[in-house]
Amino acid sequence: MSRILTPDQIDTAQRLILNANRIVVTTHKSPDGDAIGSAMAMHHFLRSIGKTPVTILPDAAPDFLHWVKDYDQCIVLEAQPTEAAEQISEADLIFSLDYNHLPRTGEAMSQLLEKSKAPFILIDHHQQPGTFPVITYSDTKACSTCEMVFRFIEQCGWKGHLNIDIAACIYLGIMTDSGSFRFHNVSDDTHRIAGEMIALGLDHAEIHRNVYDTNLMDKLKLIGYALSEKLVVMPEHSTAYISLEKDELKRYNYRQGDTEGLVNQALSIRGVKLAAFFREGNNEIKTSFRSKGNFDVNAFAREHWQGGGHINAAGGMSNDSMAITLEKFCNLSVQYSSKINAS
Ligand code: 5GP
Ligand code: MN
Repeated sequence: MSRILTPDQIDTAQRLILNANRIVVTTHKSPDGDAIGSAMAMHHFLRSIGKTPVTILPDAAPDFLHWVKDYDQCIVLEAQPTEAAEQISEADLIFSLDYNHLPRTGEAMSQLLEKSKAPFILIDHHQQPGTFPVITYSDTKACSTCEMVFRFIEQCGWKGHLNIDIAACIYLGIMTDSGSFRFHNVSDDTHRIAGEMIALGLDHAEIHRNVYDTNLMDKLKLIGYALSEKLVVMPEHSTAYISLEKDELKRYNYRQGDTEGLVNQALSIRGVKLAAFFREGNNEIKTSFRSKGNFDVNAFAREHWQGGGHINAAGGMSNDSMAITLEKFCNLSVQYSSKINAS
């Protein structure tokens, strides 16, 4: 884990990038602002040095990220599996951004990446990174992968190639992954990088509007329903959770991304130190965990929910029914009660 690349890593990265003809940029499934931001920042950067990268997403991003320049040129594996497979198999350099284990890209993408003989450059800030051939640039203290993409470009000596499209993407990922600059992993360097993006002429207020002020009424009503009808607080364990089943989501015309941030509302309750959100999908229940203080939800998600993430923000899944999933969570909050209360 390091904030900076070693001189060897810099040499190798420069050589790999300059010599590559078919660069593929990838990120994780259900891409968020940092995933799209880091992938498209790298995409625009590679273009600015004369490369013609292809960016491949396992599945589509939510609507509030579609404004990102050239988002519509990404190959979405779920929709274009043949094209995605072809590009990955012919790649001579692959970027892995905002994930550190192949399964985070989903089963189909993971299988294609595993078969590839191309060198990988991993840039990521999640806990417990796997090792990627050839470069693993991991900084678990970074607030976002986007801030690391900036540092990667800077350390390779290519800062002069930054432009407003790259700046918009870098700012997007920093803003969304840091909760608009509020989480504890925001550093002086985060603000320096955001400042440099603004100095390039970036309209940061517009990025904020694009992401946070483009809600549909249905989304607000779904959140209203979740908070008024589905929020459960267990004060004795400093825990709160919200769950939404398929029929409830359907009632409000749920679209991907509509419930993003909902778990933070549960965490914002005074005295709550562990919050969870459960959303029923087609084949599984997606879980989100957030904590205040030192209760490690990354470990919690890894141990009990086939997932992972960061100390205060993690996710995973459950293959049980909603009733059994919630019962499991309640039992775990009793089991961990003293740890949660003490955090
Ligand atoms: P969210 O709750 O917003 O979906 O995710 C919170 C954090 O946990 C993000 O950093 C995300 O990358 C990570 N995360 C979410 N779901 C999973 C998962 O299924 N597996 C792993 N390893 N990490 C996850
Ligand atoms: Mn991230």
